[in-house]
Amino acid sequence: MELNITCIPGDGIGPEIVREAKKVLDKAAECYGHQIKYTDILMGGASIDVHGVPLTEEAIETAKAADAVLMGSIGGDTTTSPWYKLPPDLRPEAGLLAIRKALNLFANLRPAVLYEELAEACPLKPEISGKGFDLLIMRELTGGLYFGERRTVEENGVRKAVDTLTYDEKEIRRIAVKGFDIARKRRKKVTSVDKANVLDSSRLWRSVVEEVAKDYPEVALEHMLVDNCAMQLVKDPAQFDVILTENMFGDILSDEASMVTGSIGMLASASLNDTKFGLYEPSHGSAPDIAGKDIANPIATVLSAAMMLRYSFDLDKEADAIEAAVKEVLKEGYRTGDIMSAGCEQVSCSRMGDLLAERIR
Ligand code: NAD
Repeated sequence: MELNITCIPGDGIGPEIVREAKKVLDKAAECYGHQIKYTDILMGGASIDVHGVPLTEEAIETAKAADAVLMGSIGGDTTTSPWYKLPPDLRPEAGLLAIRKALNLFANLRPAVLYEELAEACPLKPEISGKGFDLLIMRELTGGLYFGERRTVEENGVRKAVDTLTYDEKEIRRIAVKGFDIARKRRKKVTSVDKANVLDSSRLWRSVVEEVAKDYPEVALEHMLVDNCAMQLVKDPAQFDVILTENMFGDILSDEASMVTGSIGMLASASLNDTKFGLYEPSHGSAPDIAGKDIANPIATVLSAAMMLRYSFDLDKEADAIEAAVKEVLKEGYRTGDIMSAGCEQVSCSRMGDLLAERIR
């Protein structure tokens, strides 16, 4: 198969972690007989330095012409970098918002996996973390409260602010379909999270999700109120497979789920549109404090590349091989500094990439 991938190395540790992810992808392509064509584009601070804007039209067109985009991360030190003296629409993060919009990426996926070997980093009690967990939050990304009409007015000398939470059934249906499609590739369970005891938008959400579920008889559906879900994530995260939810609930729950794994350098993510196209990136930022030192953990980006193979190219075996390589390297006791613990061997970013690539079979 030919894979046409646009890469956005970005800023800070971005170029280092993307280099390692490419190393692992290349090894997977070699083992399984694929050809990969990479085209790099600039985004964020790297683009500001060359073009004066965080993302050019040409870069967007290059991304659109690819099958998928693999990104490092963008942005600099927000207190010292000159990029943050620019107006907000010219700062690095504006590039990310622009590309998400241009590519119509409405579904955000954030897996939260607790690896047995990293259980120590989990802030939960051993009797909870001991069971391990492997869940995925599917968050609607372009609707709801963050995109609704908003205003602040003054009425009779009293200031009043209004935000509106709107979803139509088409927006709910397309994210629900993505959620069920992905659950079908996993353990076949969807927990749809809403606040249907209070909100009309949640009642519509629940009824549309139930309609979609009829097309997926092999996937079990349960509904959960968002406040209960927030508690269950720390009480018994192993119960979840795919959590399907709207924009704001997903924003909060995905950060909570990430934190219970305890390892920011291990967390992958994907943003998808209604084709197979997706943008894949680690959940962490550009870590300017450790950039250029070859000490960053590349595993979140490597696992994002595995998600790309699975969801944009349907290359499940290749994705499995990368995920297995990550488990193997951890089991053998190799760690980057951020996940280092007693008795393990600390390795650099590039050495971690080599170790992972060597274990792809
Ligand atoms: P961050 O995630 O970059 O860093 C937080 C801490 O985690 C730092 O101590 C960092 O060294 C560490 N860390 C992060 N990733 C690591 C890795 N792979 N290996 C080892 N350690 C790692 O968050 P921040 O410091 O708040 O933000 C830095 C910049 O990143 C800001 O400009 C911010 O806007 C940007 N950012 C970008 C994205 C993105 O590109 N999608 C996401 C979040 C933040």
